[in-house]
Amino acid sequence: MNIVVQKFGGTSVASLSTQLEVMKKVMRPYREGNKVVVVLSAMAGETNRLLALANEWVTTPDAAEMDSLVSTGEQVSCALFSMLLKNQGIRARSVLGFQAPIRTDCSFGKARIVDIDTTALFEMLEDHDVLVVAGFQGCEDGRRITTLGRGGSDTSAVAMAAALKAEVCEIYTDVPGVFTTDPNICSDATKIDRIAYDEMLEMASMGAKVLQIRSVEFAKKYNVTVHVRSTFSDEQGTLVCQEDDDMEAVLVSGIAYDKDQARITLVHVEDRPGVSAAIFSPLAERKILVDMIVQNPSKGSKTDMTFTVPKADIKQTLKVLEDLRYEIGYEDLLSSSDVSKVSIIGVGMRNHSGVASRAFRALADENINILMISTSEIKVSFLIDEKYTELAVRTLHKEFALHEGGIQQESCTG
Ligand code: ASP
Ligand code: MG
Repeated sequence: MNIVVQKFGGTSVASLSTQLEVMKKVMRPYREGNKVVVVLSAMAGETNRLLALANEWVTTPDAAEMDSLVSTGEQVSCALFSMLLKNQGIRARSVLGFQAPIRTDCSFGKARIVDIDTTALFEMLEDHDVLVVAGFQGCEDGRRITTLGRGGSDTSAVAMAAALKAEVCEIYTDVPGVFTTDPNICSDATKIDRIAYDEMLEMASMGAKVLQIRSVEFAKKYNVTVHVRSTFSDEQGTLVCQEDDDMEAVLVSGIAYDKDQARITLVHVEDRPGVSAAIFSPLAERKILVDMIVQNPSKGSKTDMTFTVPKADIKQTLKVLEDLRYEIGYEDLLSSSDVSKVSIIGVGMRNHSGVASRAFRALADENINILMISTSEIKVSFLIDEKYTELAVRTLHKEFALHEGGIQQESCTG
Protein backbone atom coordinates (compact mmCIF):
# COMPACT_ATOMS: atom_id res chain seq x y z
CA MET A 1 0.00 0.00 0.00
CA ASN A 2 1.41 3.38 -1.06
CA ILE A 3 0.83 6.02 1.57
CA VAL A 4 1.16 9.78 1.17
CA VAL A 5 1.09 12.03 4.23
CA GLN A 6 -0.10 15.61 3.75
CA LYS A 7 -0.34 18.22 6.48
CA PHE A 8 -2.35 21.43 6.23
CA GLY A 9 -1.93 24.39 8.56
CA GLY A 10 -4.44 26.70 10.19
CA THR A 11 -4.89 29.12 7.29
CA SER A 12 -5.46 26.19 4.90
CA VAL A 13 -8.37 24.82 6.95
CA ALA A 14 -9.71 28.19 8.11
CA SER A 15 -12.92 28.21 6.06
CA LEU A 16 -15.07 26.17 3.72
CA SER A 17 -13.48 27.77 0.67
CA THR A 18 -9.91 27.05 1.81
CA GLN A 19 -10.90 23.50 2.78
CA LEU A 20 -12.16 23.03 -0.78
CA GLU A 21 -8.65 23.98 -1.94
CA VAL A 22 -7.24 21.44 0.50
CA MET A 23 -9.57 18.84 -0.97
CA LYS A 24 -8.06 19.43 -4.42
CA LYS A 25 -4.61 18.70 -3.00
CA VAL A 26 -5.83 15.51 -1.36
CA MET A 27 -7.55 14.34 -4.56
CA ARG A 28 -4.27 14.26 -6.50
CA PRO A 29 -2.56 11.37 -4.65
CA TYR A 30 -5.97 9.79 -4.01
CA ARG A 31 -6.74 9.62 -7.74
CA GLU A 32 -3.31 8.15 -8.36
CA GLY A 33 -4.37 5.23 -6.19
CA ASN A 34 -2.50 6.14 -3.00
CA LYS A 35 -3.88 5.99 0.49
CA VAL A 36 -3.77 9.49 1.91
CA VAL A 37 -3.19 10.40 5.55
CA VAL A 38 -4.15 14.04 6.00
CA VAL A 39 -2.94 15.72 9.19
CA LEU A 40 -4.76 18.94 10.04
CA SER A 41 -4.18 21.91 12.32
CA ALA A 42 -6.97 23.82 14.01
CA MET A 43 -8.64 26.59 12.02
CA ALA A 44 -6.45 29.71 12.08
CA GLY A 45 -6.74 31.61 15.36
CA GLU A 46 -8.64 28.82 17.13
CA THR A 47 -5.81 27.59 19.36
CA ASN A 48 -5.14 31.16 20.48
CA ARG A 49 -8.83 31.67 21.17
CA LEU A 50 -8.98 28.56 23.34
CA LEU A 51 -5.82 29.50 25.25
CA ALA A 52 -7.27 32.94 25.96
CA LEU A 53 -10.53 31.40 27.10
CA ALA A 54 -8.77 29.22 29.66
CA ASN A 55 -6.83 32.21 30.94
CA GLU A 56 -10.05 34.12 31.33
CA TRP A 57 -11.46 31.33 33.50
CA VAL A 58 -8.52 30.86 35.88
CA THR A 59 -5.10 32.43 36.35
CA THR A 60 -3.21 29.15 36.23
CA PRO A 61 -5.20 26.63 34.21
CA ASP A 62 -4.63 22.96 35.00
CA ALA A 63 -2.17 21.61 32.43
CA ALA A 64 -4.07 18.42 31.60
CA GLU A 65 -7.39 20.24 31.22
CA MET A 66 -5.68 22.83 29.10
CA ASP A 67 -4.64 20.10 26.67
CA SER A 68 -8.17 18.68 26.63
CA LEU A 69 -9.34 22.14 25.73
CA VAL A 70 -6.84 23.24 23.08
CA SER A 71 -6.91 19.87 21.32
CA THR A 72 -10.56 20.48 20.39
CA GLY A 73 -9.48 22.87 17.65
CA GLU A 74 -8.05 20.02 15.61
CA GLN A 75 -11.07 17.81 16.31
CA VAL A 76 -13.31 20.42 14.69
CA SER A 77 -11.23 20.86 11.54
CA CYS A 78 -10.82 17.10 11.11
CA ALA A 79 -14.52 16.36 11.48
CA LEU A 80 -15.52 19.14 9.08
CA PHE A 81 -12.98 18.12 6.49
CA SER A 82 -13.99 14.45 6.72
CA MET A 83 -17.59 15.49 6.05
CA LEU A 84 -16.51 17.22 2.87
CA LEU A 85 -14.68 14.12 1.66
CA LYS A 86 -17.51 11.77 2.52
CA ASN A 87 -19.93 14.05 0.76
CA GLN A 88 -17.91 13.37 -2.39
CA GLY A 89 -18.26 9.65 -1.87
CA ILE A 90 -14.69 9.22 -0.65
CA ARG A 91 -14.10 6.56 1.99
CA ALA A 92 -12.71 8.79 4.70
CA ARG A 93 -12.83 9.22 8.48
CA SER A 94 -11.43 11.46 11.17
CA VAL A 95 -8.86 10.01 13.59
CA LEU A 96 -8.06 11.68 16.91
CA GLY A 97 -4.74 11.30 18.69
CA PHE A 98 -5.98 8.64 21.11
CA GLN A 99 -7.68 6.72 18.32
CA ALA A 100 -4.52 6.39 16.19
CA PRO A 101 -3.05 6.05 18.90
CA ILE A 102 -0.22 8.56 19.07
CA ARG A 103 1.40 7.80 22.42
CA THR A 104 3.29 10.59 24.14
CA ASP A 105 4.95 11.26 27.46
CA CYS A 106 2.89 13.18 29.99
CA SER A 107 4.44 16.64 29.67
CA PHE A 108 1.18 18.42 29.02
CA GLY A 109 1.51 21.34 26.63
CA LYS A 110 4.84 20.14 25.25
CA ALA A 111 4.52 16.39 25.07
CA ARG A 112 6.92 14.26 23.07
CA ILE A 113 5.75 11.41 20.88
CA VAL A 114 7.11 8.13 22.23
CA ASP A 115 5.45 5.71 19.87
CA ILE A 116 2.82 5.32 17.16
CA ASP A 117 1.33 1.84 17.14
CA THR A 118 0.33 1.45 13.50
CA THR A 119 -1.87 -1.64 13.90
CA ALA A 120 -5.14 0.27 14.18
CA LEU A 121 -4.10 2.77 11.51
CA PHE A 122 -3.40 0.01 8.99
CA GLU A 123 -6.73 -1.59 9.83
CA MET A 124 -8.48 1.72 9.21
CA LEU A 125 -6.60 2.08 5.93
CA GLU A 126 -8.08 -1.22 4.76
CA ASP A 127 -11.59 0.25 4.92
CA HIS A 128 -10.76 3.87 4.15
CA ASP A 129 -8.80 5.66 1.47
CA VAL A 130 -8.27 8.89 3.38
CA LEU A 131 -7.62 9.19 7.12
CA VAL A 132 -7.97 12.70 8.50
CA VAL A 133 -5.73 12.79 11.55
CA ALA A 134 -5.84 15.49 14.20
CA GLY A 135 -2.43 17.12 14.44
CA PHE A 136 -0.91 18.54 17.62
CA GLN A 137 -2.43 15.93 19.92
CA GLY A 138 -1.63 12.56 21.41
CA CYS A 139 -2.42 10.64 24.56
CA GLU A 140 -0.32 9.53 27.49
CA ASP A 141 -0.39 6.22 29.31
CA GLY A 142 -2.96 7.48 31.80
CA ARG A 143 -5.20 8.01 28.74
CA ARG A 144 -5.25 11.76 29.09
CA ILE A 145 -5.05 13.92 25.98
CA THR A 146 -1.73 15.69 25.49
CA THR A 147 -0.57 18.36 23.03
CA LEU A 148 2.81 18.69 21.37
CA GLY A 149 3.54 22.41 21.73
CA ARG A 150 2.71 25.27 19.36
CA GLY A 151 3.11 24.31 15.74
CA GLY A 152 2.99 20.65 16.82
CA SER A 153 0.93 19.46 13.85
CA ASP A 154 4.11 19.53 11.77
CA THR A 155 5.60 16.99 14.15
CA SER A 156 2.44 14.88 14.07
CA ALA A 157 2.70 14.73 10.28
CA VAL A 158 6.38 13.80 10.18
CA ALA A 159 5.85 11.18 12.89
CA MET A 160 2.95 9.71 10.90
CA ALA A 161 5.10 9.58 7.77
CA ALA A 162 7.90 7.86 9.67
CA ALA A 163 5.61 5.34 11.38
CA LEU A 164 3.63 4.48 8.23
CA LYS A 165 6.76 4.52 6.05
CA ALA A 166 5.02 6.93 3.73
CA GLU A 167 6.40 7.84 0.31
CA VAL A 168 6.34 11.56 1.05
CA CYS A 169 5.44 13.96 3.81
CA GLU A 170 4.04 17.12 2.30
CA ILE A 171 3.59 20.09 4.62
CA TYR A 172 1.16 22.54 3.04
CA THR A 173 1.17 26.07 4.33
CA ASP A 174 0.41 29.63 3.24
CA VAL A 175 3.91 30.34 1.90
CA PRO A 176 5.56 28.73 -1.16
CA GLY A 177 8.40 27.14 0.83
CA VAL A 178 11.48 27.98 2.87
CA PHE A 179 13.21 31.20 1.86
CA THR A 180 16.86 32.26 1.97
CA THR A 181 15.78 34.82 4.55
CA ASP A 182 12.63 36.55 5.74
CA PRO A 183 10.98 38.00 2.58
CA ASN A 184 9.30 40.63 4.77
CA ILE A 185 12.60 42.35 5.39
CA CYS A 186 14.53 41.40 2.27
CA SER A 187 12.62 41.60 -0.99
CA ASP A 188 15.41 39.67 -2.74
CA ALA A 189 14.81 36.55 -0.65
CA THR A 190 14.33 33.50 -2.85
CA LYS A 191 12.74 30.13 -2.31
CA ILE A 192 15.23 27.36 -1.51
CA ASP A 193 14.68 24.19 -3.58
CA ARG A 194 16.46 21.82 -1.21
CA ILE A 195 17.72 22.42 2.31
CA ALA A 196 19.59 20.02 4.60
CA TYR A 197 18.02 19.02 7.93
CA ASP A 198 20.80 20.71 9.89
CA GLU A 199 20.41 23.96 7.97
CA MET A 200 16.66 23.87 8.50
CA LEU A 201 17.17 23.30 12.23
CA GLU A 202 19.29 26.45 12.36
CA MET A 203 16.85 28.42 10.23
CA ALA A 204 13.85 27.25 12.25
CA SER A 205 15.45 27.82 15.62
CA MET A 206 16.15 31.38 14.60
CA GLY A 207 12.80 32.67 13.59
CA ALA A 208 12.16 31.14 10.19
CA LYS A 209 8.93 29.75 11.57
CA VAL A 210 7.79 27.52 8.74
CA LEU A 211 8.23 24.23 10.57
CA GLN A 212 8.18 23.31 14.23
CA ILE A 213 11.80 22.54 15.17
CA ARG A 214 10.91 19.21 16.64
CA SER A 215 9.41 18.05 13.35
CA VAL A 216 12.76 18.66 11.66
CA GLU A 217 14.59 16.73 14.39
CA PHE A 218 12.12 13.91 13.87
CA ALA A 219 12.52 14.02 10.09
CA LYS A 220 16.29 13.90 10.44
CA LYS A 221 16.20 11.00 12.89
CA TYR A 222 13.89 8.88 10.74
CA ASN A 223 15.15 10.18 7.41
CA VAL A 224 11.77 11.49 6.24
CA THR A 225 11.97 13.89 3.31
CA VAL A 226 9.64 16.79 4.00
CA HIS A 227 8.20 18.86 1.17
CA VAL A 228 7.12 22.30 2.41
CA ARG A 229 4.77 23.91 -0.14
CA SER A 230 1.79 26.16 -0.62
CA THR A 231 -1.83 25.06 -0.44
CA PHE A 232 -2.72 27.85 -2.81
CA SER A 233 -0.49 27.00 -5.79
CA ASP A 234 0.83 23.96 -7.63
CA GLU A 235 4.43 25.10 -7.54
CA GLN A 236 7.16 22.90 -6.10
CA GLY A 237 8.13 24.06 -2.64
CA THR A 238 11.24 23.26 -0.58
CA LEU A 239 12.52 19.75 0.11
CA VAL A 240 13.98 19.36 3.59
CA CYS A 241 16.23 16.34 3.26
CA GLN A 242 19.60 14.74 3.88
CA GLU A 243 22.53 16.85 2.74
CA ASP A 244 24.48 15.96 -0.37
CA ASP A 245 27.44 17.27 -2.38
CA ASP A 246 25.35 19.82 -4.27
CA MET A 247 24.26 21.46 -1.05
CA GLU A 248 27.79 21.50 0.29
CA ALA A 249 28.99 23.28 -2.84
CA VAL A 250 27.02 26.37 -1.87
CA LEU A 251 28.89 28.54 0.60
CA VAL A 252 25.96 30.01 2.49
CA SER A 253 22.34 28.83 2.19
CA GLY A 254 20.41 31.27 4.31
CA ILE A 255 20.41 34.19 6.70
CA ALA A 256 18.37 34.01 9.89
CA TYR A 257 17.76 36.59 12.56
CA ASP A 258 16.43 36.57 16.07
CA LYS A 259 15.28 39.74 17.75
CA ASP A 260 14.42 37.87 20.89
CA GLN A 261 17.85 38.09 22.50
CA ALA A 262 19.06 40.07 25.47
CA ARG A 263 22.68 40.52 26.54
CA ILE A 264 23.99 40.25 30.07
CA THR A 265 27.49 41.07 31.29
CA LEU A 266 28.98 40.18 34.63
CA VAL A 267 31.82 42.63 35.18
CA HIS A 268 34.96 41.49 36.97
CA VAL A 269 34.09 37.99 38.02
CA GLU A 270 36.81 35.90 39.63
CA ASP A 271 38.77 33.93 37.04
CA ARG A 272 38.90 30.61 38.86
CA PRO A 273 37.49 27.10 38.41
CA GLY A 274 33.80 26.80 39.23
CA VAL A 275 32.72 30.34 38.40
CA SER A 276 31.02 29.45 35.11
CA ALA A 277 29.20 26.62 36.85
CA ALA A 278 28.10 29.02 39.61
CA ILE A 279 26.65 31.38 36.99
CA PHE A 280 25.09 28.99 34.50
CA SER A 281 23.88 26.07 36.62
CA PRO A 282 21.22 28.13 38.44
CA LEU A 283 20.02 29.43 35.05
CA ALA A 284 19.87 25.93 33.59
CA GLU A 285 17.88 24.75 36.63
CA ARG A 286 15.30 27.40 35.78
CA LYS A 287 15.27 26.26 32.15
CA ILE A 288 16.64 29.59 30.95
CA LEU A 289 18.27 28.99 27.57
CA VAL A 290 21.65 30.66 27.42
CA ASP A 291 22.80 31.04 23.85
CA MET A 292 26.02 32.93 23.07
CA ILE A 293 28.70 33.05 25.78
CA VAL A 294 31.91 35.05 25.71
CA GLN A 295 34.50 35.11 28.46
CA ASN A 296 37.23 37.69 28.01
CA PRO A 297 40.87 36.99 28.94
CA SER A 298 41.39 38.02 32.52
CA LYS A 299 42.97 41.25 33.65
CA GLY A 300 44.76 40.02 36.77
CA SER A 301 42.48 37.57 38.52
CA LYS A 302 39.26 39.08 37.13
CA THR A 303 37.39 38.60 33.89
CA ASP A 304 34.16 39.78 32.24
CA MET A 305 31.53 37.24 31.27
CA THR A 306 28.94 38.15 28.61
CA PHE A 307 26.09 35.96 27.40
CA THR A 308 22.62 36.11 25.87
CA VAL A 309 19.23 34.83 27.03
CA PRO A 310 15.72 35.15 25.52
CA LYS A 311 14.24 38.60 26.16
CA ALA A 312 11.34 37.05 28.03
CA ASP A 313 13.77 35.61 30.59
CA ILE A 314 15.84 38.70 31.27
CA LYS A 315 14.07 39.76 34.48
CA GLN A 316 14.32 36.32 35.99
CA THR A 317 17.96 36.00 34.92
CA LEU A 318 18.91 39.30 36.54
CA LYS A 319 17.08 38.35 39.71
CA VAL A 320 18.89 35.01 39.94
CA LEU A 321 22.27 36.67 39.37
CA GLU A 322 21.57 39.46 41.85
CA ASP A 323 20.63 36.92 44.49
CA LEU A 324 23.90 35.09 43.83
CA ARG A 325 26.05 38.20 43.79
CA TYR A 326 28.26 37.19 46.71
CA GLU A 327 28.39 33.54 45.79
CA ILE A 328 29.54 34.29 42.24
CA GLY A 329 31.54 37.37 43.19
CA TYR A 330 31.21 40.07 40.52
CA GLU A 331 31.49 43.83 40.58
CA ASP A 332 28.70 44.90 38.28
CA LEU A 333 25.78 43.43 36.35
CA LEU A 334 24.91 45.01 33.00
CA SER A 335 22.10 44.14 30.62
CA SER A 336 20.72 45.28 27.31
CA SER A 337 17.60 44.25 25.42
CA ASP A 338 18.24 46.29 22.28
CA VAL A 339 20.23 43.58 20.58
CA SER A 340 19.52 40.96 17.96
CA LYS A 341 21.32 37.99 16.52
CA VAL A 342 21.93 37.60 12.80
CA SER A 343 23.28 34.29 11.51
CA ILE A 344 24.65 32.98 8.28
CA ILE A 345 23.91 29.31 7.76
CA GLY A 346 25.17 26.70 5.34
CA VAL A 347 26.52 23.16 5.29
CA GLY A 348 29.02 24.49 2.73
CA MET A 349 30.87 26.14 5.62
CA ARG A 350 32.06 22.73 6.80
CA ASN A 351 34.58 22.62 3.96
CA HIS A 352 35.24 26.26 3.26
CA SER A 353 37.08 28.92 5.17
CA GLY A 354 36.76 32.66 4.78
CA VAL A 355 33.01 32.87 5.26
CA ALA A 356 33.20 34.66 8.60
CA SER A 357 35.82 37.17 7.51
CA ARG A 358 33.82 37.98 4.42
CA ALA A 359 30.78 38.64 6.60
CA PHE A 360 32.84 40.84 8.98
CA ARG A 361 33.99 42.96 6.05
CA ALA A 362 30.47 43.31 4.63
CA LEU A 363 29.07 44.40 8.01
CA ALA A 364 31.98 46.79 8.59
CA ASP A 365 31.37 48.44 5.21
CA GLU A 366 27.87 49.25 6.46
CA ASN A 367 29.27 50.54 9.74
CA ILE A 368 27.54 47.83 11.74
CA ASN A 369 29.30 47.11 15.00
CA ILE A 370 29.53 43.46 16.05
CA LEU A 371 28.96 42.98 19.78
CA MET A 372 29.46 39.24 20.01
CA ILE A 373 30.29 36.38 17.66
CA SER A 374 29.62 32.69 17.95
CA THR A 375 30.31 29.93 15.46
CA SER A 376 29.43 26.32 14.83
CA GLU A 377 30.32 24.01 11.96
CA ILE A 378 27.54 25.32 9.77
CA LYS A 379 26.73 28.72 11.27
CA VAL A 380 28.25 32.05 12.22
CA SER A 381 26.14 34.32 14.43
CA PHE A 382 26.63 38.01 15.15
CA LEU A 383 25.05 39.91 17.96
CA ILE A 384 24.40 43.48 16.85
CA ASP A 385 22.33 46.52 17.80
CA GLU A 386 18.71 45.61 17.17
CA LYS A 387 18.13 48.65 14.99
CA TYR A 388 20.58 47.33 12.38
CA THR A 389 18.93 43.91 12.04
CA GLU A 390 17.26 44.56 8.68
CA LEU A 391 20.33 46.23 7.22
CA ALA A 392 22.58 43.38 8.38
CA VAL A 393 20.28 40.73 6.94
CA ARG A 394 20.09 42.49 3.57
CA THR A 395 23.83 43.13 3.51
CA LEU A 396 24.73 39.50 4.20
CA HIS A 397 22.07 38.22 1.82
CA LYS A 398 23.66 40.27 -0.94
CA GLU A 399 27.24 39.47 0.06
CA PHE A 400 26.61 35.75 -0.30
CA ALA A 401 24.61 36.22 -3.52
CA LEU A 402 21.54 34.50 -2.12
CA HIS A 403 19.30 36.36 -4.56
CA GLU A 404 20.91 34.29 -7.33
CA GLY A 405 21.35 30.88 -5.77
CA GLY A 406 24.36 31.56 -3.53
CA ILE A 407 28.09 31.35 -4.11
CA GLN A 408 29.30 28.05 -5.53
CA GLN A 409 32.41 26.40 -4.09
CA GLU A 410 34.63 27.08 -7.16
CA SER A 411 34.31 30.84 -6.81
CA CYS A 412 35.33 30.80 -3.16
CA THR A 413 38.93 31.84 -2.67
CA GLY A 414 38.83 31.18 1.11
N1 ASP B 1 -3.06 24.37 16.36
C1 ASP B 1 -1.78 24.29 16.99
C2 ASP B 1 -1.13 25.66 17.06
O1 ASP B 1 -1.73 26.64 16.66
C3 ASP B 1 -0.87 23.31 16.34
C4 ASP B 1 -0.52 23.61 14.91
O2 ASP B 1 -1.21 24.35 14.23
O3 ASP B 1 0.47 23.08 14.43
O4 ASP B 1 -0.04 25.79 17.55
MG1 MG C 1 2.76 25.94 11.77
